[in-house]
Amino acid sequence: MGAHYDTRAKATKDSTNPNDPVPGANDGASGCAVLLELAKVFYERRENLSCQIWFLFFDAEDQGRDVAYGIDGWDWCEGSEKFVDDIDNFYDSENETFDCMILLDMVGGVNLKFINEQYSTSSLLDELFGVGRNLGFTEEFPKNAISRYITDDHKAFVNIGIPSADLIINFWNNPDWPYHHTIQDDISHISNHSLEVTGKAIEQFIYNNYFVNLSDMYKGNHPWREDINIPQIDIEMVSLLIMTIAILGAIVVVFSLFKKDKFT
Ligand SMILES: [Zn+2]
Repeated sequence: MGAHYDTRAKATKDSTNPNDPVPGANDGASGCAVLLELAKVFYERRENLSCQIWFLFFDAEDQGRDVAYGIDGWDWCEGSEKFVDDIDNFYDSENETFDCMILLDMVGGVNLKFINEQYSTSSLLDELFGVGRNLGFTEEFPKNAISRYITDDHKAFVNIGIPSADLIINFWNNPDWPYHHTIQDDISHISNHSLEVTGKAIEQFIYNNYFVNLSDMYKGNHPWREDINIPQIDIEMVSLLIMTIAILGAIVVVFSLFKKDKFT
């Protein structure tokens, strides 16, 4: 499980204070808060867990270049990229494997509504949504969630083949939470309920999949290898290919009709 703890050094979407730092109550701190609480919960129940749980706190997620700001030579998600580069140093690759990685980003704002993040492994994200909805959190894990690609700390894990899901909200033109990368991303726009919903869903997901003697009846999507998300570029490539085949097919048909005409 991961979250980023850095906050953006300049509030680039704040029309009046673009040079001030973002407090980052939601964009950063909310995910960390939920992870700290989950660490307490699972530490008490560690004897019943059938897996290790790592709590990852990433630096330098949020300093990439958008409209104006960026630190020279820095991209988004530097901390998680570096962690994944060095991941072999942190585990025994002969005896241990990674099942999944769950990222929490902007999970504590008022009016929480998660999106269908498209870099995520869909079978894992679908299962998290299902767990949340089963707990009654149908507003927060909506049935027809909007789809967006978000460059975030889960991407580095997806890229090395670890199923990963990003629980995140829509942060562009979202009237329900318009404080992204502004100085108003502060504690007054945080909701205890949103933090609790996120924490409870992740907690239940772990009980369902990794709790000894409790999850025999549960059928989730483990090991989350299937992924129905198709990157945008691939959709374009596929349609180009289909069009090419169709045109070639049409030429062949016309040509063979022409030939037929000639010899009959
Ligand atoms: Zn951010």
